[in-house]
Amino acid sequence: MCGIVGYLGKRRAYDILIQGLHRLEYRGYDSSGVAMIAEDGELNIYKSKGKVEALEHYAQNKDLSGAVGIAHTRWATHGEPNDINAHPHFSQSRNLALVHNGTIENYTVLKEALIRHGYEFISETDTEVAVHLIEYIMHKNNCSLFDAVKEATKRIIGAYAIAVIDRNNPDQIIAARQSSPLVIGVGDGEFFLASDATPIIEYTNKVVYLNDGEIAVINRGKELKVYDSKSTSESEIHITELQMSIEELEKGGYPHFMLKEIFEQPRTLADCISGRISADGKSVVLSGVVEHKEKFLGANRIIIVACGTSWHAALIGKQLIEDFCRIPVEVEYASEFRYRNPVVTDKDVLIALSQSGETADTLAALELAKSHGAFVFGICNVIGSSIPRATHSGCYIHVGPEIGVASTKAFTGQVTVLAMMALLIGQMKGLVSEETLQTVASDIRRIPTLIKDIFKLNDKIQDLAKIFTYAHNFLYLGRGYNYPSALEGALKLKEISYIHAEGYPAAEMKHGTIALIDNDMPSVVIAIKDKVYEKTINNIQQVKARGGKVVAIITEGDTIVSEMADYVLEVPQISECLTPLLTAIPLQLLAYYIAVNKGRNVDQPRNLAKSVTVE
Ligand code: GLU
Repeated sequence: MCGIVGYLGKRRAYDILIQGLHRLEYRGYDSSGVAMIAEDGELNIYKSKGKVEALEHYAQNKDLSGAVGIAHTRWATHGEPNDINAHPHFSQSRNLALVHNGTIENYTVLKEALIRHGYEFISETDTEVAVHLIEYIMHKNNCSLFDAVKEATKRIIGAYAIAVIDRNNPDQIIAARQSSPLVIGVGDGEFFLASDATPIIEYTNKVVYLNDGEIAVINRGKELKVYDSKSTSESEIHITELQMSIEELEKGGYPHFMLKEIFEQPRTLADCISGRISADGKSVVLSGVVEHKEKFLGANRIIIVACGTSWHAALIGKQLIEDFCRIPVEVEYASEFRYRNPVVTDKDVLIALSQSGETADTLAALELAKSHGAFVFGICNVIGSSIPRATHSGCYIHVGPEIGVASTKAFTGQVTVLAMMALLIGQMKGLVSEETLQTVASDIRRIPTLIKDIFKLNDKIQDLAKIFTYAHNFLYLGRGYNYPSALEGALKLKEISYIHAEGYPAAEMKHGTIALIDNDMPSVVIAIKDKVYEKTINNIQQVKARGGKVVAIITEGDTIVSEMADYVLEVPQISECLTPLLTAIPLQLLAYYIAVNKGRNVDQPRNLAKSVTVE
């Protein structure tokens, strides 16, 4: 899941690489490192365990000269996070330096072969085989770095985005990708390279997204060249203009990206809805769906594959699509789906749901469904990422870059898109009346304003968080549309506060989990006025009867639950199917403030990374 950066041009590479690593730190923060070819021709590698700050500290008094370099921020897959396993890695002669994002599956076989040829390994990473292999091929075939990388890609099995520099040629970077993302920025006499566009945007908005199996040759003073690794042909280069702004990548006065992203939701959801629902609420248009209308209308079944928070959004999507479209929906963990032998036919529509658009398991699951003839549709946030490029059609959530590792605005964006999709397909199928369409679509348009209202709870939630900061366990309960909200609320708390939390369908609790309830285990219950409201009240009573403390999220003005629960947080009334968009906000804020009270690193919680590009 690491992030890689590269630069070749006229400025000091180190500055651009470090800034780029900061932008990509969300992808991994176990260690980081840079390699630059200095003015005196030396190839210098500086690396350090921990965050990019630690690297900056380490590099302070070193030779930071050179206008070409590569850099890496790591999320370890092979070998513990330490200075040695940190990237970049040197080749045996120390002429080459390489960074890698991904996993090399056949690295043990390659490593044994290279050891037999006299290569010595100093790290425990899979990555080190790549740099030794490239050097081995260069020597054996007496060939260029490009030819050696091309040959190496034929022997490496797995996922990779790599960038390599050679001390003997300070005017070149070679990069290749297979399953891990790589974007090249084309500036005026300079080139940038990164795992996503965020390190590039402040220098140029012209980018080229490398495709799987492609190798890029970046030469000083020459045009960018991209080749297909399996043939001799040169690929056509498509330059894309980035729409992102630099402000979107800054904290904008908030102490954490997560808090900024929570508070951004009125705007991000307005962007997500913009141009998709008419002002009178009478029509919903998602061009990716309309253009493939027959696929949705003819679908026997919809399968949504996702991981983590997206999987929770998918569970809400299932209820929306089944309610409005009467199409059976299955929600699958992408990692399970891809390794089963799932029954998929050409009458199925598969929706791949992923914030980053790079989730390795989701990508593999969609490829599997595609190979069985299914129509595959992507719902992603990052424009130009791998999933949107691998699907037949799709729809972006348009919530802007999400940097906090715990997803917030992407979750609400995904649910909003799924709600619009369900309405549109239901209407195309003749199952959604004009009246229902107008009510629900108008309610979707009201969401940004209603979320602003919910922010008034901020201080109350901050106080509440103080009471619960020292709890060791939490239970989150919900039913119907808000059962997935309970799962998501628990996940948020676990991710950033490291407090154990379980999300459960409220009624299911009595089949086991209720045994855990006592005075020390608070329950957060989503008890809004929906069709299972009375039932949820019973569940609250069951918790209270066992001495449990209850924080309830309720519909504005509800006096019944207010009297029963220990603490309540009110959200406005809205169409039932949209309530998860409102209940998500207090759940996000509660997790945030508990984590802050515990002194956690909210934006970069331990062991996690944002874009899960490894299995
Ligand atoms: N497999 C490499 C390592 O462990 C790269 C990890 C990654 O891309 O997440 O260092």
